[in-house]
Amino acid sequence: MEFPSRLKELIRIPQNVAILSHRNPDGDAIGSSLAMLHYLEQYGHTVHVLFPSEFPAEFDVLPRSEDILLWDLHTEECKQVLSRKNLFIFLDFNAYNRIDRMGDYVKDLPGERILIDHHLYPDQIADFMFSEPEASSTCELVYRFISGIGDSQKLNPTVGKCIYTGLITDTGSFRYATNPTVFRIAADLIERGMDDTAVQDMIFNSQKEKNLRLLGHCLYNRMEYMPEYHTALIWLSKKDYEVFNIQRGDTEGIVNYMLSIKDVRLAAFIHNQPTVVKLSLRSKGNLDVQEICKKHFNGGGHKNAAGAFTHESLRQTIDKFKNLLPEYKEQLLK
Ligand code: 5GP
Ligand code: MN
Repeated sequence: MEFPSRLKELIRIPQNVAILSHRNPDGDAIGSSLAMLHYLEQYGHTVHVLFPSEFPAEFDVLPRSEDILLWDLHTEECKQVLSRKNLFIFLDFNAYNRIDRMGDYVKDLPGERILIDHHLYPDQIADFMFSEPEASSTCELVYRFISGIGDSQKLNPTVGKCIYTGLITDTGSFRYATNPTVFRIAADLIERGMDDTAVQDMIFNSQKEKNLRLLGHCLYNRMEYMPEYHTALIWLSKKDYEVFNIQRGDTEGIVNYMLSIKDVRLAAFIHNQPTVVKLSLRSKGNLDVQEICKKHFNGGGHKNAAGAFTHESLRQTIDKFKNLLPEYKEQLLK
């Protein structure tokens, strides 16, 4: 990472800062955004975090999550806040369409922009681009940004807790997308007083009972295993959404369970959300699900974790997915 003098100025002299992350924010989006907020406030910046939509309730315990502004719920307030900003920091996304209408609004505002992200194929949407698709998480990059600029002493337990959140969620507890740096970062944050057990508790021991029952339903009633393609699929209908009273975030992580089947190389979770059909793909090894999502569903993400939204029916989306499998058979069976 390189830090031009203008960037150092922007960080060290108080600005009016907006930190933005993507729709359906996950642990990495929330963790990186709040880590950046707690870091920048130590320099006296005025900071707001804004997301297009709500985040899962388990992250409510992260300090200052209560101050996050949501475009979907408070559009006018978001517009007012954004229009006063002179520095925009984009975290965990790399194209304006990932923040929907908030992107249309921010695109035309004056002000300087910093992007820190690890998704493939970034759009040139910032003056300072820290885009590293090989990084485990945006939180890893936020850590390297803070230490690279010479502010390691500002990695206090609160900043650490937020960074650790994204490390854990984007690597599935250090199981995939890891690299030696990730482990060094974890060790350093713990040495600096970050309470790793509290983060683990927040993420893994804070489930609602109904979510465990929903998981049981998915695995027992909705999972289709196609051994001839080393592929497994779980789908949820609109009716399931009603019966289980599914809220945003309740389905997070379900797709990963299918990867624990020995031969599964590709896992798909297709669910009929209230307004769109959402597709989440995960893979093991070389199979590039980002390419599948981009080519066939107008989505994107990473090589082993990608997603898309469609306006076709649930049935059509499931059929389309299944009909693609012969095309990828060779890779799936490798
Ligand atoms: P998930 O399946 O958990 O929603 O997303 C997995 C990964 O794919 C995330 O990194 C996410 O940012 C990305 N992703 C999910 N949905 C979309 C989409 O509609 N478009 C693009 N470009 N990326 C997506
Ligand atoms: Mn991420």
